[in-house]
Amino acid sequence: MSAEMTKPSAPSPGAVAQEQFLTILSREDALARFEAALFPRELASEVRLLGDALGFPLAHDVVAAVDVPPFDRSNVDGFAVRSADLASAGEAAAVRLSLNGETIACGTAPTLAVMPGTATPIATGGPLPRGADAVVMVEHSEPAGERAVDIRRAATAGQFVSYAGSDIARGEVLLRAGTVIGSREIGMLAASGVARVSVVRRPRVAIISTGDELVQPGEPLRPAAIYDTNGAIVTAAIVENGGDASFLGAFPDEETALEKVIREALRAFDMVVMSGGTSKGEGDVCHRIVARLGKPGIVAHGVALKPGKPLCLAVSDGKPVIILPGFPTSAMFTFHDMIVPVLRRLAGLPPRADAQVAAKVPVRIASEPGRAEFVMVSLVEADDGLIAYPSGKGSGAITSFAQADGFLRIDALADQMPAGTATQVTLFTPHVRAPDLVIVGSHCTGLDIVTGDLARAGLSVRSIAVGSLGGLAAARRGECDLAPIHLLDEATGSYNTPYLAEGLELVPGWRRMQGIVFREGDARFAGLGAEAAVQAALRLPSCLMVNRNQGAGTRILIDRLLGGARPDGYWNQPRSHNAVAAAVAQHRADWGMTIAPVAHANGLGFIPFAEEHYDFALVTARRSRPAVQAFLAALRSEANRRALEAAGFRPA
Ligand code: AMP
Ligand code: MG
Repeated sequence: MSAEMTKPSAPSPGAVAQEQFLTILSREDALARFEAALFPRELASEVRLLGDALGFPLAHDVVAAVDVPPFDRSNVDGFAVRSADLASAGEAAAVRLSLNGETIACGTAPTLAVMPGTATPIATGGPLPRGADAVVMVEHSEPAGERAVDIRRAATAGQFVSYAGSDIARGEVLLRAGTVIGSREIGMLAASGVARVSVVRRPRVAIISTGDELVQPGEPLRPAAIYDTNGAIVTAAIVENGGDASFLGAFPDEETALEKVIREALRAFDMVVMSGGTSKGEGDVCHRIVARLGKPGIVAHGVALKPGKPLCLAVSDGKPVIILPGFPTSAMFTFHDMIVPVLRRLAGLPPRADAQVAAKVPVRIASEPGRAEFVMVSLVEADDGLIAYPSGKGSGAITSFAQADGFLRIDALADQMPAGTATQVTLFTPHVRAPDLVIVGSHCTGLDIVTGDLARAGLSVRSIAVGSLGGLAAARRGECDLAPIHLLDEATGSYNTPYLAEGLELVPGWRRMQGIVFREGDARFAGLGAEAAVQAALRLPSCLMVNRNQGAGTRILIDRLLGGARPDGYWNQPRSHNAVAAAVAQHRADWGMTIAPVAHANGLGFIPFAEEHYDFALVTARRSRPAVQAFLAALRSEANRRALEAAGFRPA
């Protein structure tokens, strides 16, 4: 919204926010408005020493002030001659030349002319003396006493000579404005004697994180707080794209104090990038502050992007002011999609060239119609090309960003991308490197112990956590080498084997003890076995449980222990062993069921109940692959078995 569009009667800040958020722009419209408010503009330049200019774009054309080489120069070690003297030289007829009384080394200016019938010894790089027009290589000469040489080859004029200005001619445009200075450009500039260059000054960018919950990495985490991820990641991404980044810190959602920080940042910097506090929530104050900074003000608030809808773009008296969404992955996507193009233009850099590859999606990906959706994917190689696995984690997951190879885009109009769709994946790195071993299924920290050997042997392992059933489906489709599974067949009471389809074989992994977790010192559970502990909990209505999701092997065990009871907390059904432990450790529940290593890692009390079998469904057709063989060897190795035991697992 431009300032002219806000009502003169100055509506309350809340009303302004509502009004702005109702206008959701397409990403193209939002970017066009943002760029129109910023460009064209004159980019600030500065003079830098050549040694400090790496990575900067040149602000002006550089014109060569000298010839390179500055004189006619010998390219070989040999003799400076007059080519006419050697016209009759041949294998059978040597021409004898008498030597002039000087030797021209590199950096030595000649003093004697080469007269007919004479030659002057010259080193590579030496300036050609007056009279000479060619150089004969020392290999093609024979000494004839102290003061003469015999030459048995004719020489053409100009042979082994680089003429003055043949490399770079004085007055020639050496490098164009906009060229990014790399080592080769530095070489050219140094060869022409240039010590200082005028480059585009890096835009100075202030980074501000906002939120009462934020704590800087390195500080202890207080209850309900989280580490400030955006501060670090945005700072790094700004440097990667030509900005001079200054992280100012994380600030609470306190309007007056925050406004002061932002206004100071706008005075000292060329651009301000904030994150958090951009939604319509009560505590979200950033966009209200931004709305009353300089002109034209907010140009887009609400963009049809997923993740990233609450993105807010503003320009304050020529300076870009951005509020990125709070969730780190949303912040990163919007940063790369909407901010990088503008930042690079301000830095004088060319647009980013991101590599793309074709890949197929193995599963249906649901999408919300009306917003262009970005989905991070991990790439694996199947028989007929690349497969793009959507990263299964929620919008707040930062690991999905680090582990993904790139992302795909689902059009704003589509409500899904059907399984089997051939699509384009934009890569985060310039090349795809297909992993040597692909593991798709249920993740376990024990897996990290086993795959450590492979990593040390230089084999790359990609592990994609999609749960046991998802892993089995991937194995059946031939998209992975191994699927880690822990599935209890209720009918037979046995693990995993009943789930194997044709073409898959079972490789035994390890056993994980499942049991009841409670806080150490909770007298309600002390000294009891698992059945007795659950019975005790059921007798106390204030004793709150945490369950597991339907389909989890652990859930089957819990239901067995509860025998049809539905105590308070039963509907709290997190999807991981770690979430159960966290709920108990943080007093959000009093007991639940998880595996022993997780209980111990969280410092919780643990009552063992039943062993779960964590095994691998191996795609038989891939058994002989070197990486699969390396994995099987690592699984059997004594050292790894001991390490698994030390971590609380029991190797099978
Ligand atoms: P907000 O837009 O402030 O409502 O934030 C949305 C979500 O992103 C909340 O869960 C915040 O805790 C989280 N968040 C906001 N800023 C950061 C940050 N700098 N680092 C990590 N998470 C954040
Ligand atoms: Mg916030």
